[in-house]
Amino acid sequence: MSRVVVIGCGGVAQVAIAKCCQLDNIFTELCIASRTISKCVALKEKLQPTTKTKITTRKIDANNLDEVVALFDEYKPELVIHCGMPYHNLVIMDACIKCKVHYIDTAAYEPENVLEEEWRKVYEKRVKEKGFHAYFDYASYQWGYDKKFREAGIIGLLGCGFDPGVTQAYVAYAKKHEFDRIDTIDILDCNGGDHGYKFATNFNPEINLREVSAPAAYFEDGKWHTLEAMSVKREYNFDGVGMKDMYLLHHEEIESIAKNFPEVKRIRFYMTFGKSYLEHMRCLEDVGMLSTTPINYEGKEIVPIQFLKALLPDPASLGERTVGKTNIGCIFKGVKDGKEKKYYIYNVCDHQESYSEVGSQAISYTTGVPAMCGALMILLGKWNSIGVHNVEEFDPDPFIEALDKYGLPKSETYNPVMVD
Ligand code: NDP
Repeated sequence: MSRVVVIGCGGVAQVAIAKCCQLDNIFTELCIASRTISKCVALKEKLQPTTKTKITTRKIDANNLDEVVALFDEYKPELVIHCGMPYHNLVIMDACIKCKVHYIDTAAYEPENVLEEEWRKVYEKRVKEKGFHAYFDYASYQWGYDKKFREAGIIGLLGCGFDPGVTQAYVAYAKKHEFDRIDTIDILDCNGGDHGYKFATNFNPEINLREVSAPAAYFEDGKWHTLEAMSVKREYNFDGVGMKDMYLLHHEEIESIAKNFPEVKRIRFYMTFGKSYLEHMRCLEDVGMLSTTPINYEGKEIVPIQFLKALLPDPASLGERTVGKTNIGCIFKGVKDGKEKKYYIYNVCDHQESYSEVGSQAISYTTGVPAMCGALMILLGKWNSIGVHNVEEFDPDPFIEALDKYGLPKSETYNPVMVD
């Protein structure tokens, strides 16, 4: 018996909810709480006839602490899976402390308004001291909740999607089973899917475009190295997908892997992008459409990137038209029993198979399934260390077993082509 709240009803949430409903002996009661109640009701109507999970819905503003606390007080969940926007992580974490509810999210906190004075001060200090420019980081905000979570006796599981999320479980798994020492990690995120649009993002456009237009960064020899966005390109032949161009990006799991595996000398993250996506992104950036700074248009305040989001296809609607596969994983170099060793662990996920199972494309699927599996780990007591943790701090075995079973099986190779 468990009572779980899912916040958000977009692409990722819809998969996490559908997967929870497949395990209705564990997820016995579930509340879908989001901004647009009609989406929650439509999802409930679609899923309820297929599951014994008792689904309820609730309109909520996740930015309003009182509303989130009122929902938790009334519904009394054991756990919340936050699949809304990362802007609301801290509000929801505060509500979890107040009401003693376990917490899971899929993306590191960043603010909606990056001009906000207090946040800006913290950000500029971090850029100066550490030298990486992404709007998100774990150290300045969410890791600081550890003591309060331990005092409340609850677990905060950060970044439990695929990347961040499964990629860190792969690191923990490699360290547990394959290496005495890991020297380098390259995380490779390939989306070989085609949705037929000239330009659309596969997950929330605001967060996606912020991420890819930020300066690139990697971690080597204890410090961050920052480069111009999209300035490092490599080609890689991905299993199930084929040859793709990929670009060095900063990504949130680099920060937590660097903290939790200090032996690793270099951690990099690459993501594939097609030519059309990059051309559109550059053009939109050049004309100011990616700006997060509000402008005044005919007496109304508009945030350009939010207006752009309104024009772009909803990522949750891409499922039906997306074909092809994703391939996401980690390549390691290190030492086992005194010998140098290479190892590549990854998952290949098919967009159309995801769509026929849960009605969503593979990007939402590869994020929503791990969020459900993370919840499963906590509800079954397999991950039970209170406080705020990233995925790699827990035993990877039961989680990877659950991923294998519920739709994201791992593949492994001991002779991977390395990225130069
Ligand atoms: P969507 O934009 O599809 O969904 C976001 C949902 O949050 C929507 O249902 C939206 O409501 C809801 N929401 C927004 N603001 C509020 C609010 N104030 N109160 C309540 N609900 C709100 O995004 P995705 O599903 O694509 O992404 C969800 C999260 O997953 C993001 O944080 C993203 O960064 C992360 N992600 C993580 C990945 C990983 O591998 N770790 C990969 C992909 C995504 P409405 O329906 O009204 O718009």
